[in-house]
Amino acid sequence: MKIYRFRYRRRVLTGVLKEEFLFPVVGSIFGDFSLASSPVPIGDVRVLPPVLPTKIVGIGRNYREHARELGNPLPEEPLIFLKPPTAVAGHLDAVVQPPASRRVDYEGEVGVVIRRRARQLGDGDPVDDVILGYTCFNDVTARDLQAKDVQFTRAKGFDTFAAVGPCVATGLDPAAIRLKTFLNGKLVQSGTTADLIFSIPFLVRYVSRIMTLNPGDIIATGTPAGVGPAAPGDRVDVQIEGIGVLSNTFSRPGGKEFA
Ligand code: MG
Repeated sequence: MKIYRFRYRRRVLTGVLKEEFLFPVVGSIFGDFSLASSPVPIGDVRVLPPVLPTKIVGIGRNYREHARELGNPLPEEPLIFLKPPTAVAGHLDAVVQPPASRRVDYEGEVGVVIRRRARQLGDGDPVDDVILGYTCFNDVTARDLQAKDVQFTRAKGFDTFAAVGPCVATGLDPAAIRLKTFLNGKLVQSGTTADLIFSIPFLVRYVSRIMTLNPGDIIATGTPAGVGPAAPGDRVDVQIEGIGVLSNTFSRPGGKEFA
């Protein structure tokens, strides 16, 4: 099932995609819902970020090859950081390079979307009902500021630096999600969650023991090797099998932020 949030005739709706039509959700995607019988053609809507998280938890250095390419040792525990909810951008929105940075990188990632409130999960606790599904995520990073600052808040917290979408897909196997990133159509990253140092269930339990996870929260599970800069005018596509493609163009400040 692919769940979209979208604008249609000035209304913001959530809907489930069936072929080329979105069937509006009645109820909540985080609880029980049914589908309205009057679908909307997906070509007639503007796709919005699929969820509005209360927080985005990022995981650093969760693929061996990426840790190596940045010259970092492999972590013994997950390295976590936060991106603010104000950083969210949707499919086809512009990612804006701030004047404070001279190097903004793309980081294609698998995003885990939380379904229900969860805290203090134990090692053996199931996470199937905690996870709603998965989405494409671009953990945009001002690499020069990340190197300069002691922590990641500035480098990863600018508005539009958390591109997410186009939808949340349910029913994927968290241990076998394949991800590719394209820069102007050229393949630059390719990975699978089979290669994660810390698995998705492990991360959900781990984070829940630090902070309460709320419905709609996102865990960005880390990026494979192949990160690099994107300049204003470049397009970055994060493609995940079973989800779709998240496409964003990078722009200068003062450029057109939202399509
Ligand atoms: Mg990242």
